[in-house]
Amino acid sequence: MALKTGEEYLKSLRELGLCAMVHGRLTEDLPGHPLVAPSTRAVAATYDLAQSPEAKDLLTAESSLTGDAINRFTHLHQSAEDLVKKIQMQRLCGNVTGCCFQRCVGMDAANAVFSVTYECDAGHGTRYHGRFREYWAMIQKHDLVVDGAMTDPKGDRSKRPKDQADPDLYLRVVERRPGGIVVRGAKLHQTGMLNSHEVLVMPTVAMRPGEEDWAVCFAVPTNAPGIRHFYGRQVSDTRKLEPGRLDVGNPEFGGQEVMTVFEDVFVPEERVFLCGETDQSGKLVERFAGYHRQSYGGCKVGVGDVLIGASALIARLNGTDQASHIKDKLVEMIHLNETMFACGIACSALGHPTAAGNYEINLLLANVCKLNVTRFPYELARLATDIAGGLLGTMPPAADLSDPSAGPLLRKYLAAAPVAEVEARMKVLRLIENLVAGAGAVAYLIESMHGAGPPAAQRIMIGRQGDLEGKMDLAKRLLGI
Ligand SMILES: Cc1cc2nc3c(=O)[nH]c(=O)nc-3n(C[C@H](O)[C@H](O)[C@H](O)COP(=O)(O)OP(=O)(O)OC[C@H]3O[C@@H](n4cnc5c(N)ncnc54)[C@H](O)[C@@H]3O)c2cc1C
Repeated sequence: MALKTGEEYLKSLRELGLCAMVHGRLTEDLPGHPLVAPSTRAVAATYDLAQSPEAKDLLTAESSLTGDAINRFTHLHQSAEDLVKKIQMQRLCGNVTGCCFQRCVGMDAANAVFSVTYECDAGHGTRYHGRFREYWAMIQKHDLVVDGAMTDPKGDRSKRPKDQADPDLYLRVVERRPGGIVVRGAKLHQTGMLNSHEVLVMPTVAMRPGEEDWAVCFAVPTNAPGIRHFYGRQVSDTRKLEPGRLDVGNPEFGGQEVMTVFEDVFVPEERVFLCGETDQSGKLVERFAGYHRQSYGGCKVGVGDVLIGASALIARLNGTDQASHIKDKLVEMIHLNETMFACGIACSALGHPTAAGNYEINLLLANVCKLNVTRFPYELARLATDIAGGLLGTMPPAADLSDPSAGPLLRKYLAAAPVAEVEARMKVLRLIENLVAGAGAVAYLIESMHGAGPPAAQRIMIGRQGDLEGKMDLAKRLLGI
């Protein structure tokens, strides 16, 4: 079965039976937990959209491994058009969920591992690529969610992995056995880990000779023996435990971040895709980061559309929508959002084939895309806050609305333009609050800054890819020097 429905996905997740520490308690039935369920629904939306006649073209593709129709989130991109469709799909998913739908990181990891294993085999005579093809065909066949796990805790940032006080601060191989390896360490900030069937682990930095134990890439099920998950807190997350959905802001969907610890986890040989080839690790980091920096030109733009819409709506409900400075601020928001989209499309349209046959984005433009994403959503959030007004931070809770004595006062004093119903106005304000200062801001702002690497990482890549020598030659040629 290559294309699951959202319901089938939820069933498969329940069967997986993951458990995690959630707010200090070891918790089972995560898809049914009120804190976790919104994030699970957001992933389920990526399955349901693949079934919808309007979205099918974006959400599905033909597998290069099996020829079957598959969900695009498991696709190995076969053309620049595929890369463009990826961005359009991510924007659509952001539009539908208004949050991080968590399925991009595994897709980006797979596309990077696919080409790097091919090149590693060519250079080292290893046999990783064939293993990865088999593994990924299984993922496509069962339409699974794969968490892409790159980021190690990293301890003292001024020290190399092998020089840390505790060598486990970068995930590493602690034992090589016949038939597999044993790994120990942790991965932080794991988007959607508890909604994933599998985790694909990669090194977090370019390793050097002497750091072979840390140059490891592999996949295991998210419930493999020795794995422990810790659910991350988000601003205002306990609002999800309250009766009523108004104060949550995004009533249906939400993101999910997890810390995952690997306590001596056995990885069978057929799931090991790099083990000790330090010269391949930097390429893998760079390639994964490139795909993921492209991704943000789609997903953050999709959520940005929702924020722009909510800002326009609150202006109308407040009676400010005809003011010229408000109109101009909305235009500015659209301009910023479409600039990020343009970068996402541009790095996709200029994509090129790898030696392994899948397509890679234009690395320079993907890094430009992500560097803009470290700034523009913050500016969009600033403009939305400006347009929304101070109630964004001071509004009484929804529970007061249904109180017999407080409710009428809220309805009287929170009334605005004649078109505005008080409850609708409160809902829009809470949605904006969610994105600029609440749980949604984890993905919309903090992830825009740090996800796929912080701004300094993009600047390094832009410096490397920007061809300053070539540009100097242009000037020299013009001047005859
Ligand atoms: C919401 C969210 C979702 C994420 N999802 C995923 C995911 O699904 N999978 C995954 O693998 N990762 C994920 N990440 C992790 C993300 O890639 C990292 O947060 C990012 O690479 C920054 O690493 P860090 O958080 O350890 O911060 P740090 O590396 O500590 O960076 C903090 C600051 O210190 C600077 N700095 C760090 N090291 C040095 C140094 N040696 N020298 C000089 N300056 C330095 C950085 O430039 C930055 O300004 C996610 C992060 C967030 C916030």
